[in-house]
Amino acid sequence: MIDTLILNTAELVLKGGVRRFFEEQLLRNVQSQLLPDTPVQLEWRQAGLYLSWPEPPDIEAVRANAQRLARVFGVAYVGLAASCPLELEKISALAVDLLAGEPAGSFKVDCRRQDKRLPFKSPAVAREVGAAVLMAQPERSVKLNNPDLTLRIILETGQAFLMVNPLPGPAGLPVNTAGRLTALLSGGIDSPVAAWRMASRGCLLELVHFHSYPMVTQASLDKVKRLAARLATWQVADRLVLMPLLDIQKQIVSAAPEADRVLLYRRAMLQLAERVAAGSNSLGLVTGDSVGQVASQTLENLLAVTSAVSLPVYRPLCGNDKESVVQLAKRIDTYDLSIEPHDDCCSLFTPAHPTTRAKPATLQAAEAACDLGPLLETAWEQCELIPLTADWD
Ligand code: ATP
Ligand code: MG
Repeated sequence: MIDTLILNTAELVLKGGVRRFFEEQLLRNVQSQLLPDTPVQLEWRQAGLYLSWPEPPDIEAVRANAQRLARVFGVAYVGLAASCPLELEKISALAVDLLAGEPAGSFKVDCRRQDKRLPFKSPAVAREVGAAVLMAQPERSVKLNNPDLTLRIILETGQAFLMVNPLPGPAGLPVNTAGRLTALLSGGIDSPVAAWRMASRGCLLELVHFHSYPMVTQASLDKVKRLAARLATWQVADRLVLMPLLDIQKQIVSAAPEADRVLLYRRAMLQLAERVAAGSNSLGLVTGDSVGQVASQTLENLLAVTSAVSLPVYRPLCGNDKESVVQLAKRIDTYDLSIEPHDDCCSLFTPAHPTTRAKPATLQAAEAACDLGPLLETAWEQCELIPLTADWD
């Protein structure tokens, strides 16, 4: 029965004159997200992008593609749809058939009319179809709030599309419509979420990870690569840059006040990330900082660290509490990887009493005493570029 995927693109509808630009990028993102050799026809209609199979498709292939497309930014929901002629009896019969294959439980019918000239009013269709379902499957009950099953019906000229429980997509704007950003990716919970949030506004990211190999294990580096590949299932980023920080850290440890170490690591990270950004026309940096979460994230420290660079530093989580970040990390499927144990370069040589209210001038003086220039150069020369492919496992 099911032969169409409907990708609803809610926010794009608002985009007026530049809508075509967003739609074209969304189309490219959708095409690159499909499984190889998926023989679909793509067509824009009022409700969004329709992907239809010319031959009756293998339902498992449709489901697998739907799961992938539910990770394309710009998509509000993905519906696995069946269609029928625009006749009330046929719509009701199809609804009964579709729901017959679903587990028991409450349901509601949600009907949208795309063509306002149609003789049917949406609420009347919903009522009629709901009644037909109840008649055929009396064990079901109607529940308008939070039902187990939502049957969505889209009425178009000549045709109706029906789908059960559309998959929620991330909505937002298609990746690569806003420009490039360079995100600092640690192995923790916050920075993958921060990168994802910026991608949801149409930015295409590159990810930079700083490591202290061989003082940190190869396993920690592999973890970051897996995290990046997981983010790539959302098309968040196209490459990962691995950058050695150990020699810079050792120099900071030997030449700077102990309390300032972490802040000086951070300034070095931002400076190196800014160099990566300059090489790829990136328009800003992204970090997972949240105000007050740890000592390095007081407003004073964030200011003193940020003054190391001139690109804007986007911190989309700065007003979030940890719990809300954890919730989002779970939703975007990075949490399980983030909580795997790893050693991070920032935990090397950490002071017992870090500076909590740094002054930019003092920190800059401490940095100058370290004479990091040549070491930054070497780190830059030693960076490793890894193109990303999505890891769906
Ligand atoms: P996260 O969970 O993202 O590690 P956090 O709350 O642990 O964040 P910090 O460890 O203080 O915070 O790091 C703040 C931000 O600095 C991170 O979100 C990340 O953007 C950046 N950062 C920290 N360590 C690294 C690293 N090794 N490589 C790249 N970026 C890093
Ligand atoms: Mg961290």
